[in-house]
Amino acid sequence: MINLEAPKKFQPLVGQAHQVAMNMLRPISRRYDEGEHEYPKELDMLAAMIDGLSDSGQAQGAGASGVGEKTEAEKRKDAEAEKSGKGGTRNGSNLASVLSIMEMCWGDVGLLLSMPRQGLGNSAISSVANAEQLERFDGVWAGMAITEPEVGSDSARIRTTATKDGDEYVINGEKIYVTSGDRADHIVVWATLDKEQGRAAIKSFVVPKGTPGMEVERLEHKLGIRASDTAAIRFTDCRVPAENLLGSPDIDTKQGFAGAMATFDNTRPLVASMAVGCARAALDLTRELLTDAGVDIDYDAPTYSLSAAAARFIAMEADWEGAYLLTLQSAWMADNKQPNSMQASMAKAKAGRVGSDITLGCVELCGSVGYSEHDLLEKWARDSKILDIFEGTQQIQQLIVARRVLGLTSAELK
Ligand SMILES: Cc1cc2nc3c(=O)[nH]c(=O)nc-3n(C[C@H](O)[C@H](O)[C@H](O)COP(=O)(O)OP(=O)(O)OC[C@H]3O[C@@H](n4cnc5c(N)ncnc54)[C@H](O)[C@@H]3O)c2cc1C
Repeated sequence: MINLEAPKKFQPLVGQAHQVAMNMLRPISRRYDEGEHEYPKELDMLAAMIDGLSDSGQAQGAGASGVGEKTEAEKRKDAEAEKSGKGGTRNGSNLASVLSIMEMCWGDVGLLLSMPRQGLGNSAISSVANAEQLERFDGVWAGMAITEPEVGSDSARIRTTATKDGDEYVINGEKIYVTSGDRADHIVVWATLDKEQGRAAIKSFVVPKGTPGMEVERLEHKLGIRASDTAAIRFTDCRVPAENLLGSPDIDTKQGFAGAMATFDNTRPLVASMAVGCARAALDLTRELLTDAGVDIDYDAPTYSLSAAAARFIAMEADWEGAYLLTLQSAWMADNKQPNSMQASMAKAKAGRVGSDITLGCVELCGSVGYSEHDLLEKWARDSKILDIFEGTQQIQQLIVARRVLGLTSAELK
């Protein structure tokens, strides 16, 4: 028999994250949706509590947060233990992260994205940084700035430049749609060392908040995830120490874009898990509402004997299961050092689509109750859409999967 349950050792973590989501995120969910750009100060207390658990070792195996990502130091410890043969675990930090993020997003996606020290830039640091940088940037809260006014999906075309000047890099350019761009204390910025040398010259740089020349220009108003700030940031002769370039400064045209893109192999399963969590929230509430309305959801009955609502609900759950399993698979592969680019994109494509389809499907099934602000179904339908857009849109994920399956390069299949 195949066991499709979450591994036993993660069940306390899943339970703990679910409690946090239910008791700390859900009660403030609507408030910060309505109060866009208001800082969810309750998260400071949550982050401090999680740091305390982490310091005392009680959050072991649960990630830095006990509910989300591990710190860079925790990940390094895992890697060292694995190298020395003392680790042996094959269900590691990536799997722990996706499982806990699912639960937190069952609570609220926008608030999860606003959690101090859990930014997408933190994942970039863990993916690309060297040992010294992992140590130095341990505990920071880092946003991730790739997108520019004329560069979205085709991130190889970025125009922000980083020019070496003595022991520093000087960054110039404009970044838009930076999640946590205002609140995070560091931003990981993608910039090119030399436009002529194409994708291989794109590197990421850690820029601490308050560095002269870095300015948050505006915050966006959005359809969903309104608890999360999304900023436009301008860099004008912004100087950072040369050692803030993540990874190697060499321009390796053979490796091409692979270095920078490695970040996505870690972040796409995380975004997929956000969609899985949000869709699960919608399914759970819809089940309650349908049951209250007298709809019998009987898994053992043949489909023809079910009501249309029950049959639709079960079909949505089956779709959800596919997204859930692909997400676990892509994270498990990352934990086991298996190349997972294709699976990360498959998980992101499936979960991104399922997230939108299910949350909207639940609004539809519940009718006016689904559409009303009395419950959170309408909010989840708005929140989930972004998960099919950022970290690579649905179409881009499908393109990546098609290239891998067909063995074609990005030049051959655009
Ligand atoms: C709320 C929010 C938060 C964000 N957070 C961040 C962040 O933290 N950091 C960051 O760097 N960026 C962030 N982004 C930006 C996001 O990653 C981009 O919006 C996304 O990559 C798409 O880029 P684009 O909007 O320029 O769309 P485009 O690239 O212009 O695409 C428009 C449409 O064309 C499709 N398309 C494009 N190319 C192809 C192709 N080759 N084949 C088929 N279809 C194609 C796309 O799928 C899409 O449907 C965020 C965006 C939003 C809205």
